[in-house]
Amino acid sequence: MSTLGIKRVAVIGAGTMGHGIAEVFAMAGFEVNLMDISEDILRNAINRIRDSLERLSRRGELREGVDVIMARIRTTTDLARAVSDVDFLVEAVPENAELKKNVFREADKYAPPHAIFVSNTSTIPITELSEATNRRDKFAGMHFMNPPPLMKLVEVIRGKYTSDDTINTVVQLARVLGKEPVVVNKDVPGFIVNRVLFRVMLEACREVVQEGVKIVDLDAMARNVLGLPMGPFELLDYIGLDTSLFIVKAMMERGFRAHPCPLLEELVSKGKLGVKSGEGFYKYPGPGQYVKPKILPEQGLDLDPVRLMAPAINELAWLIREGVATADDIDKSVRLGLNYPWGLTEFADEAGLDNIVDALNTLKSVSGWEEYEPDPLLLEYVKTGRLGRKTGKGFRDYPEIEERRFEEIILRVDPPAAWIILNKPDKLNVLTPRMADEIVNALRMVEDDPRVRVVVITGSGRAFCAGADINQFQNATPIQMFKAMRHYQSMTLEIEYYTKPVIAAINGYALGGGLEIAMACDLRIASEEALLGQPEVNLGIIPGAGGTQRLTRLTNPGISKELILTGKQISATKALEYGIVNRVVPKHALEYEVRRWVKDLASKPPLALMLAKYAINYGIEAPIWSSLNGEASLFGVAISTKDAAEGVRAFLEKRRPKFTGE
Ligand code: NAD
Repeated sequence: MSTLGIKRVAVIGAGTMGHGIAEVFAMAGFEVNLMDISEDILRNAINRIRDSLERLSRRGELREGVDVIMARIRTTTDLARAVSDVDFLVEAVPENAELKKNVFREADKYAPPHAIFVSNTSTIPITELSEATNRRDKFAGMHFMNPPPLMKLVEVIRGKYTSDDTINTVVQLARVLGKEPVVVNKDVPGFIVNRVLFRVMLEACREVVQEGVKIVDLDAMARNVLGLPMGPFELLDYIGLDTSLFIVKAMMERGFRAHPCPLLEELVSKGKLGVKSGEGFYKYPGPGQYVKPKILPEQGLDLDPVRLMAPAINELAWLIREGVATADDIDKSVRLGLNYPWGLTEFADEAGLDNIVDALNTLKSVSGWEEYEPDPLLLEYVKTGRLGRKTGKGFRDYPEIEERRFEEIILRVDPPAAWIILNKPDKLNVLTPRMADEIVNALRMVEDDPRVRVVVITGSGRAFCAGADINQFQNATPIQMFKAMRHYQSMTLEIEYYTKPVIAAINGYALGGGLEIAMACDLRIASEEALLGQPEVNLGIIPGAGGTQRLTRLTNPGISKELILTGKQISATKALEYGIVNRVVPKHALEYEVRRWVKDLASKPPLALMLAKYAINYGIEAPIWSSLNGEASLFGVAISTKDAAEGVRAFLEKRRPKFTGE
């Protein structure tokens, strides 16, 4: 405290934010002068602070007694008295530029010249406010999140005149308060958090308005797929629709390129303001009574998470390119300011920057909105091959990802997955005996690698794999072909028998041998654009790498015959209906969806996955008595593992299990 030269602090405005900010300073040992316009308001603020401290004390989160902390807070309705002896001033009066400027102009007269002034404004330019004072270099933004005692993030905003010393002091002060500061180097509307937040909100709103997506489904997707604590509409209700509308409008007036959300305007005009009025996008039991909207675990799974987040990733690129904030600080902002379980760079690099650009281009063309134009930084990254995790570089570098190039495939070890990429894009990744051998070799190379919990097979370019190389069939003898088919079959059996789950990420054509590889995998996720089929009859031959058998087992003899006898291609959506694939997603969301499945599977006990896979695969072939015996025996094996002991213990102790694969 003393190293910063700050002992006494004025907090001007004792409302929602001001009383919480005063509490935070007092808890950290600062003397606080809390000022507002009436004794009533101040009394109320003091009661709220005491209540909050008592709650924290009951939870054992205070180092000192409540009375000791309360004794540090003095109240006054006199601005001159509030500021005359302070080293630091935080302004938290209502969001009105003239009002704030008046407060600062007056405070500037009475506060010691060395005192630093900060504003908690969400939307008013810091530079403009600082111009009301004669201490522009000692003036910054200090944007706390609501409620200040609980939310860790503080945005520290540099105005046009703010000195480095002032920024450093405010940053250090935020740390002394137990907060995590991020520096916003340019005074841009919405700083970091609101810019990102409203990109997501406005895209969510667009999907509802322009595409008829259901509000509750979109919120469900945000929770169930993206893992966010609240969906965009839930959060809007929580923040207050009038406040949200006000913030968006203020940001747009200052140059934030966006289209407003008509739903917000409409609800606000009807007095439906969200939780505070008892109704907004959802209905609540009464004004101010929050109840979390009910969402089922399988709800929203068909919506596109990458499309919803792409505008926020575009914003991330803009903020970095404009030098507003570092990637680290932006990630920190969404984790701590919005409670996202991941940072934006992490999301973008996992989804693939090429896919983000693709999603933005699609959004731009369906909406006709200029703000969806991909940022030059994203385009530059894509042009230079910085596509995210899959190329080892994106917003971040991933030196730990290992890549091994074979002649016809690539093996990429990106724990917890190993990716086998069929890699002859100019030949639609046609299957050859060499490719089959390389797949088998790659599988064996990572089989005992404990970091690898899941294997993904996918294709580079437009195809997953468009079938076997036809050259192989010319002038071949029956015996040669018998052996060749056995060769391919042993590769598919290797996949099927593999001791780890294998996912087929069907990015494009999966025909003939391609579909046969995919069908040997445990799970199949297909891009909306993929086409699947067993077209062998068109050449006068039949499937030979398991197609006639696995297609029949995945579907039924009728569908299998329909596809094999006609040799026709079907869409991924039709394949989903037939049970050939588990999930269909937009092309730009495939990588993200696959990684999501990988994470899910990787969190499970590896031996149990292996045993379950064996029990299922064996059971498909065996008579029921035999397969039930198999299941019981494998259950016996499963219970003997350390992971089973851990799983049962964790369940009883109500904690997340940690599986090691032993
Ligand atoms: P609020 O209306 O709850 O509180 C403002 C307080 O300032 C009131 O108690 C009011 O009586 C007092 N006040 C009015 N004129 C005054 C004056 N001349 N001198 C002293 N006090 C005066 O508002 P709030 O939600 O606490 O917002 C305060 C600031 O914090 C705004 O700039 C807002 O944009 C920002 N902010 C709010 C939130 C939020 O979630 N509420 C989050 C971050 C930032």
